[in-house]
Amino acid sequence: MTYLDNNATTQPTARVVEAMLPYLTECYFNASASTATFTGADKPRREAAAAMSKLLNAEEPDCFIFTSGATESNNWVFSSFARGRKAGRVLVSTIEHASVSEPAAELARAGFEVVEVPVDAQGVVRIDALRDALREDTALVSIMAANNETGVLEPIAEIGRLIRELCPAALFHTDATQAVGKILVDLQGDWQDVDLLSFSAHKFHGPKGIGGLYIRPGFEVEPMILGGGQEQGLRSGTTNTPALAGLASAASEARNLNSPAMCSLRDTFEARLQDEFPEAVIHSRGVPRLPSTSCFSLPGMLGEEMVGALAAAGIIVGTGAACSAGAIQSSKTLRAMEVAHEIAVAGLRVSLSRYSTMQELTEIIVQLKAIRQELPPE
Ligand code: PLP
Repeated sequence: MTYLDNNATTQPTARVVEAMLPYLTECYFNASASTATFTGADKPRREAAAAMSKLLNAEEPDCFIFTSGATESNNWVFSSFARGRKAGRVLVSTIEHASVSEPAAELARAGFEVVEVPVDAQGVVRIDALRDALREDTALVSIMAANNETGVLEPIAEIGRLIRELCPAALFHTDATQAVGKILVDLQGDWQDVDLLSFSAHKFHGPKGIGGLYIRPGFEVEPMILGGGQEQGLRSGTTNTPALAGLASAASEARNLNSPAMCSLRDTFEARLQDEFPEAVIHSRGVPRLPSTSCFSLPGMLGEEMVGALAAAGIIVGTGAACSAGAIQSSKTLRAMEVAHEIAVAGLRVSLSRYSTMQELTEIIVQLKAIRQELPPE
C-alpha cells in the first residue's frame, strides 16, 4: 500500500510505538495516584508537557492541557467561551475545519454574532476583511494556522498583531493541528499574540486519541470535564499514559523535521504532474504552504472517483469533496476560494510524511494516466 494521505493521519514512528509499550505492559499504573512518583506513571505526562513546550517554545510546560485531540480542544475553546456569556462577537475564517466551524455555528444558533472572514483565491485569509470585521466588541477570533486541504499557511503572526492593535481584549485561538510538528511555531516569538492553540499527536507521527490545548499563562478557561481533577482540574479522567508517552516521543522527534527535502519532493511532483497533465490546476501554488501538501484538480475527472480508482491500485490519497444525497459537494476550502465547481469537484490532495518517496509520487502520476486512459471520451 502506498500511503499519501498524511494530512488525515500519519504512521506512528517505531520510537513512538516503543515509547508507548511499557505503559501498556509493565507500567500501567494510575498517573494521579500518590504513588505515581514511585511507579513512574507520572512520567509520560511530564515528558509530553516538556516536549510540547520545547517544540512550540512555550513559556512553561504547565501551559499544556492534554485532550483526546484537536476536535476536543477546538470544541472546548468554544464551549468555554460561551459559558457564562449570552452574547459576543466571534470571528472565524471560511476555511476552518468542521471542529471549529460546527461549534461556531452552535454559538450562532445560541444568539452569538458569528462572522465568517473570507479568504482570497489562494486560500489566504483576507487581512482587509479581517481588519473591517475586528470591531471593538469582538471577543473571540479563531483562525487556523494551516489548512488541511490546501496546506496554505495563514499569516498567524500578522493576524495576531492586528487583533492586538484593534481589539486588545479579544481572545485569539488558532487550530494549529496541521502546523504543529511540520513548521516552526514560536509562541514566545512570532506567535506571541496567540492565546490558545489546538494540536493533535497523530498528525505528526504520534498516536491517535491524544492532543491538547496550549493556554497562554494568565489566561483562564472553564473546565471541560469535571471529575477527579486531572489536567489542572480542567479535563478530568484517568490520564492516558501510553498515548502521552507516544506524544512525548513524537514531539521530540518532530524537532528534526527535514522540510526543505519534503518541499523539493512536493515541487518535483507538481512539476511532473503539470508536464503530464498540462490542464492540471495546482491550488495555492503561489503562497506559503505546508511542505507536505499538494492539492490539485484534473478537470474532467471527479476527485472522489479518482480517490477510489487510486485506492483500487493500492494508493491512498485524499479529497475534500464529498458525495451527499447523490450530489457531489466540492471541498469547503476550494469553494471558499471561489474555485469553479467543475474544477473544485476534481480536487485531489496528496499529503506527504517523512517516509514519502519520489518513487511513490511518480507512481501516482503513472496511475492517474492509466485511469485517464480508461475514462470514456467526453
Ligand atoms: N483541525 C484540523 C485542521 C484537522 O486537519 C483535523 C483533522 O483532520 C482536526 C482539526 C481534528 O483533529 P483530531 O483528529 O485530533 O480530532
